[in-house]
Amino acid sequence: MVVSGCPIRSNSKWLGGIRLSKTGDGRIGETFPMNQTEFPQRITLNKKENFLEILWQDGHLSQYPLPLLRAACPCATCRGGHENMRSEPDPMVFAVKLSDSPATRIDQIEATGQYAITIHWQDGHHYGIYTWHYLRALCPCSECRGIIHGEDTPSS
Ligand SMILES: [Zn+2]
Ligand SMILES: [Zn+2]
Repeated sequence: MVVSGCPIRSNSKWLGGIRLSKTGDGRIGETFPMNQTEFPQRITLNKKENFLEILWQDGHLSQYPLPLLRAACPCATCRGGHENMRSEPDPMVFAVKLSDSPATRIDQIEATGQYAITIHWQDGHHYGIYTWHYLRALCPCSECRGIIHGEDTPSS
């Protein structure tokens, strides 16, 4: 896994490398039992055009405008209390239009375990833990938005 374009805190054991555990040999399939499509191969912060790009294991490319990421901040404060915290983003966040400000600019991204990143915004807010699952569900591309609209019904 490669992260480029932004400072990553050096306390992360694995962002910037592919080492996933102290005992693992770095092969994601063996050390990371989670649904592999929801695991990034590469995260890139494009500060010039203000978006965060995630290339997933299955080859899907997600490009998140930073105002969308901020609007979707999953922390309890932004979501209006712990009871409103969800593992998937509120569809309403796609309608929120934040203008460019320190609140929508990323200061740094910190690895949180093996399952998430914490985004530090330039206004000092850094409480949102964005899990891979949350980020994948937040993908704003038309393909993903079309899927998420329908009910998640079992296939059989
Ligand atoms: Zn927040
Ligand atoms: Zn998508």
